[in-house]
Amino acid sequence: MTKRVFAVVGDPVAHSLSPLIHTRWIEENRLDGEYVRIHLRSANAAADIRGLAGAGFSGLNITLPHKLAALEAARVISPEAKLVGAVNTLALQPDGSWSGDNTDVEGFALAVSRATSADLRGRKVAVVGAGGAARAALVHLERLGASILLLNRTPENAEKLARELAPGAHTGSLDILPKAAAEADLVINTASLGHSGEALPDLPAGRGRPLLDLSYGKAAAPVLKAAAEAGWTPHDGLPMLVGQAAAAFRIWWKIEPDQEGALKACRARLAA
Ligand code: NDP
Repeated sequence: MTKRVFAVVGDPVAHSLSPLIHTRWIEENRLDGEYVRIHLRSANAAADIRGLAGAGFSGLNITLPHKLAALEAARVISPEAKLVGAVNTLALQPDGSWSGDNTDVEGFALAVSRATSADLRGRKVAVVGAGGAARAALVHLERLGASILLLNRTPENAEKLARELAPGAHTGSLDILPKAAAEADLVINTASLGHSGEALPDLPAGRGRPLLDLSYGKAAAPVLKAAAEAGWTPHDGLPMLVGQAAAAFRIWWKIEPDQEGALKACRARLAA
């Protein structure tokens, strides 16, 4: 057996924790594999990703901003990736082409199950943001039967996304957040506002309720700090990252990896 090589492809990609996670699992399971980073800055990402199928890679994780390009680059697409409308995991097929999957929904499901043990059927969930991460969130929350309120800086984007993935969801602008959060059983921030140091505006008292931010590390800090100060129980998006990585690892190696160990290793890296 020759060594199997995998990579995370994105722009930027230097700070990705995926190499740490996958290298750890490759070593723990004594596999003949390697996991590297590929910084892809390209106007023709779909063709470039298709080209990587002939460059010795057995699989790729795709991160911002190339998840739509990966959907285009894959010859076969899983029902989950079709539903979400994005591919974050590619696996090399015997004919040398890519098959595309989306493991973000599974990662998101893990993050939600760690934030709350409540059955969310019929429960009110306020979701902030209507970008790529919100797509995986809506798919899972719809499956759970949650009552979704989708809020976004640009409300038209929330309306468009809800029409596509969660037709029963109510939508609105961020102005509604104080009222929506006051009534919600769970608040989920999928918006990238923490990357510019911002927190969610005018959060009401949390009274211990869970608030999940899908970002992690420095980007999650402003949102989670303000939420904790308002009495919410804060959770970051690291379990989502590890959960989507575990699903990709399973697709490539058919092995269940140790997610708890990887989560601890990621937390230690972020704290260093
Ligand atoms: P996108 O660029 O696709 O979407 C960004 C969203 O954030 C849009 O809804 C946008 O609103 C909103 N937004 C951006 N800046 C602000 C702001 N200053 N104030 C209010 N709203 C703002 O990004 P993604 O959906 O891919 O990523 C969102 C977050 O999720 C990031 O923090 C990312 O790190 C995290 N993420 C975590 C993952 C994990 O595994 N844990 C996986 C994927 C993402 P508008 O429509 O008005 O532009």
